[in-house]
Amino acid sequence: MRDFLHRSLLYAALILALTLACWLILGLVPALLAAIALLSGWLLFHLWHVARLTVWLQHPSARHIPDGYGSWAAIFMALYRQARKQDENRKRMAAALERFTNAGEAMPDGVIVLNGHDRIDWMNPMAVEHFALDRTLDIGSQLLNLIRHPAFHSYMAAGQFSQPLVLVSGNARDRVLSIQLVPFDLSHKMLLSRDITSLERVQTVHRDFVANVSHELRTPLTVVGGFIETLSDMDEVDSATLKHFLPMMMEQSRRMQRLVEDLLVLSRLENDPKAVEFDKVDMDALLNTLLIEAEGLSRGRHRIALTQHSPDWLWGCPQELHSAFGNLVSNAIRYTPEGGTITLAWQVDAHSARFSVTDTGIGIPREHIPRLTERFYRVDRGRSRSSGGTGLGLAIVKHVVARHRAKLEVHSRDEQGSTFSVVFGREHIAAAGQS
Ligand code: ADP
Repeated sequence: MRDFLHRSLLYAALILALTLACWLILGLVPALLAAIALLSGWLLFHLWHVARLTVWLQHPSARHIPDGYGSWAAIFMALYRQARKQDENRKRMAAALERFTNAGEAMPDGVIVLNGHDRIDWMNPMAVEHFALDRTLDIGSQLLNLIRHPAFHSYMAAGQFSQPLVLVSGNARDRVLSIQLVPFDLSHKMLLSRDITSLERVQTVHRDFVANVSHELRTPLTVVGGFIETLSDMDEVDSATLKHFLPMMMEQSRRMQRLVEDLLVLSRLENDPKAVEFDKVDMDALLNTLLIEAEGLSRGRHRIALTQHSPDWLWGCPQELHSAFGNLVSNAIRYTPEGGTITLAWQVDAHSARFSVTDTGIGIPREHIPRLTERFYRVDRGRSRSSGGTGLGLAIVKHVVARHRAKLEVHSRDEQGSTFSVVFGREHIAAAGQS
């Protein structure tokens, strides 16, 4: 600016000097004419630059700054620097905005930005999915018209947003959302939504499990407690009474013991996700042990056979496999009426190895089969308990099978017997020999 003033004063002084020189040499009239001509030229020079500046100001851009002469060159250069700085700032802001928008878009939680009238300003794809919204049509719409859940309306009306609201989404069935409104600025709000369906499911499973364990333990505890109370109320307990009560108490305490043992096995399997250390399992020895155990459990009430026996061994954890196979054998015996047949088989072909237990027992109606490995799931509660079942056997089998990356197959028809098979991949087959 100072440069512009200096130059202007210099030009004015020059014009004045030239006019005076002209006056002295040529007289007054030529001097005045020369002054008018010089001032007009000077004015035109400035008008031309002002016109160029006006045109540029309509579309200011650092790339198309006009060229200037004299003092205007400095002005246009200053304008160029300022425009370039603004361009850079604008680009930086646009990049920052894009980064924030991309971050919002990529968020695993739903985000809806609301204006002061609770109308939607912006939303990310996850919010679209959570509330079944439309990203083009619903921008600018009243949120309360789009989310019609009564609990959500009460939450918005109450104005207490410190705690999240848990909502079972009506749009996508069975989806549980945790929703929280976060006010920001003076009037804007942000609605955050998180899908907690699986978390809720885990909590429900946990609650059910605790309830089931308590229920399973309550009955035998009540029975034992009742017997103890009866006995302590008696002045004298004769041996006939004791012989009557003690076996029943023993049976109930065994039931609790079995339950606690199964729970411990299950908890160890669930809490130790590490792959088990595999060893070569002598299938000959394991099958013989299972046969002896089966005969012990059956006490001569069933025919027990071992067929299709392969000489191959198995890579796996001996204790876990014994526990899983033993559960299948014990189930076959417990759910097969007297006179039935239980068949153990160990088959190996080019692709897989298969351990199976087939019985001619009561069978399982088809609709129950997918749920058999759930903890405490029983087709017939009374029958399971009276046969000494804990309801955890197949849950244990499921975990062992998963840890061996094997597959449990169940084929059964109501009243027509069942076959439970554990199928291992080819990599689990080991040549017989020293373990
Ligand atoms: P349980 O201790 O009750 O036997 P499991 O987890 O071992 O528990 O088995 C779950 C349920 O599956 C049993 O209660 C029973 O109803 C059914 N089941 C398992 N094995 C057989 C079988 N071989 N024949 C008929 N039903 C079976």
